[in-house]
Amino acid sequence: MKIISSISELRETLAPLRKQGKKIGLVPTMGALHEGHASLIDHSSAECDVTVVSVFLNPIQFGKNEDLDKYPRRLQADAKLAEEHGGTFVFAPSVSEMYPNGDPLTLIRDESLEGLYCGSYRPGHFRGVLTVVAKLFLISCADVAFFGEKDYQQVFLIEQMVRDLNFPIKIVRVPIVREPSGLARSSRNEYLTAEEKNLALGISRGLLAAKSAFDAGERNVDNIRNIVKQSIASNGGTVQYVEVASQATLAALDGSATIGEKVVILVAAFFGTTRLIDNIEL
Ligand code: AMP
Repeated sequence: MKIISSISELRETLAPLRKQGKKIGLVPTMGALHEGHASLIDHSSAECDVTVVSVFLNPIQFGKNEDLDKYPRRLQADAKLAEEHGGTFVFAPSVSEMYPNGDPLTLIRDESLEGLYCGSYRPGHFRGVLTVVAKLFLISCADVAFFGEKDYQQVFLIEQMVRDLNFPIKIVRVPIVREPSGLARSSRNEYLTAEEKNLALGISRGLLAAKSAFDAGERNVDNIRNIVKQSIASNGGTVQYVEVASQATLAALDGSATIGEKVVILVAAFFGTTRLIDNIEL
């Protein structure tokens, strides 16, 4: 597996492949790869001739008191996993390669949703995400990019950015990969103690219970939200938010509303000091 760390080398490597008509797939990640990332790489290698897996811990999407310093880093293991799943290249630039003049002065931000859900608790987060993703699109000139539905608001905002700014790239959403227990796979699960990991099942179980209630006819937004909130709280978790949002617009439905469209339940909760997110479509 070739690990490329310079932007110019990646461009020089990909240009002749593109000329030969090869379809290029991009899988953006922050590293510490797990089965969730592997699924994105599997999807890319099934659809594309060349798969670039980027591994870049993007500092501008982390808040000052967040976990940038302790985030797990293991590039060689990441490269091995990427290779095993059909990745062609790993692109692992340094921070100074991506941001040679310090934090970028030109940022991409979404006007409508950056202050909602994760955005309201992580100011500046989505600006950092959209900016680095736009840079990765322009650096790789990939034909297709793969994102997980685990980060539901993120993939929604990326699709919107692609439409709004006419990026010539197709976005593919990949379903959430879970541990056999139901816990959504995440690099941050490594922060959990064994006990916390068990308790954190309150999130996925709450989401499944809410879906069962919905399937049985429950349509009240607050009743659906409360099922998830109670499941998290009764397992010792602290809810940051549980919202029911329109799949089409990601606007939150009012608590008293009756669900009459395709929605998604979006959740963020703490177990110990670890913040986890999850969601389920109804
Ligand atoms: P990250 O390294 O956490 O920034 O994630 C990189 C990509 O992997 C994003 O598109 C995530 O949505 C996706 N991803 C992370 N965890 C999962 C998962 N459990 N299932 C599916 N995709 C995931």
